Amino acid sequence: MSEPALSPEEQAARADLLERARLLFAGRVDFLKSAPALKFLPDPEVPEIAFAGRSNVGKSSLLNALTGRKSIARTSVTPGRTQELNFFEVGEPTRLRLVDMPGYGFAKAPPKVVEQWRRLVRDYLRGRVVLKRTLLLIDSRHGVKPVDDEMMQMLDEAGVGYRVVLTKADKIKATDLAQVLAATQAAARKRTAAYPQVLVTSSELKLGIEDLRAAVLEDSEI
Ligand code: GDP
Repeated sequence: MSEPALSPEEQAARADLLERARLLFAGRVDFLKSAPALKFLPDPEVPEIAFAGRSNVGKSSLLNALTGRKSIARTSVTPGRTQELNFFEVGEPTRLRLVDMPGYGFAKAPPKVVEQWRRLVRDYLRGRVVLKRTLLLIDSRHGVKPVDDEMMQMLDEAGVGYRVVLTKADKIKATDLAQVLAATQAAARKRTAAYPQVLVTSSELKLGIEDLRAAVLEDSEI
């Protein structure tokens, strides 16, 4: 958490970014479509920021908090359900898209479903020219699990830059959170395509949401 001190110019630039990010998400956010296969992807017209994480990591809640909507992203997908990429448009006219990737790591998924998931996610990550960044969500209570390592490996191999985001920070004690944060940062530093800084969030307490909005705006390069 020890960020280097910012110069007055950097502080002003940061405040400006935060305000632009706030305004962006205070404006239009609409669900566009679900894509169960690559042929259903929308035309690559604007930058995309994707969200990945284990099932139940809090991805839908974070997307709702980020966009200031109560239920734009549907919570908790049933294991074995059709795997889809869900696209949301931000801005009027559309300036960027948020992409909700199907959750992974559910215990009882049949191998066929896992393979479908892998193919869809890998092909999207490898082939999507407008994909600027992925946000990889990790549950604060669990830290980086082997399935998250696999996801990091896929992102590294696809050469897609990603930020690691801890979710549900309200669920654990501050001392435990500090430990998980340090371990998660250490895991991120070992990865070629990961940002070394890890964002800490709680959708419940709206913690870290402004920083997340700023990261999305910055990463989309609009
Ligand atoms: P998803 O499967 O990754 O989309 O996860 P959801 O957003 O559906 O969240 C899974 C569960 O965790 C739900 O019961 C949420 O209410 C809960 N949850 C999500 N974010 C938070 C948070 O920041 N704090 C707390 N305490 N619970 C959360």
